[in-house]
Amino acid sequence: MIIIHRCAKCKHPDIFHRGTTCCYTQCLCPDPDYAGPEVIPTWTPEWQLIEEITPPGSRTREFGVLCDCAGCANLYQRECAIT
Ligand SMILES: [Zn+2]
Ligand SMILES: [Zn+2]
Ligand SMILES: [Zn+2]
Repeated sequence: MIIIHRCAKCKHPDIFHRGTTCCYTQCLCPDPDYAGPEVIPTWTPEWQLIEEITPPGSRTREFGVLCDCAGCANLYQRECAIT
């Protein structure tokens, strides 16, 4: 799983908004408005859920470098404390 910020306007995670426009061709969101961080599930190429949360700021093959703001760090610590 990874921690992302979801755009309040188009509901896409920040990892889909690399550059100035969203990677979704339908998305005309030039000015993403990100809400607080949330955890979303990720899967292996074999579609097995990755239960471990990737630490904020990590470089991932699929999603590039993850956000490492204070909000993401707090959420990561909270989630890791529970599990
Ligand atoms: Zn957006
Ligand atoms: Zn978008
Ligand atoms: Zn963040």
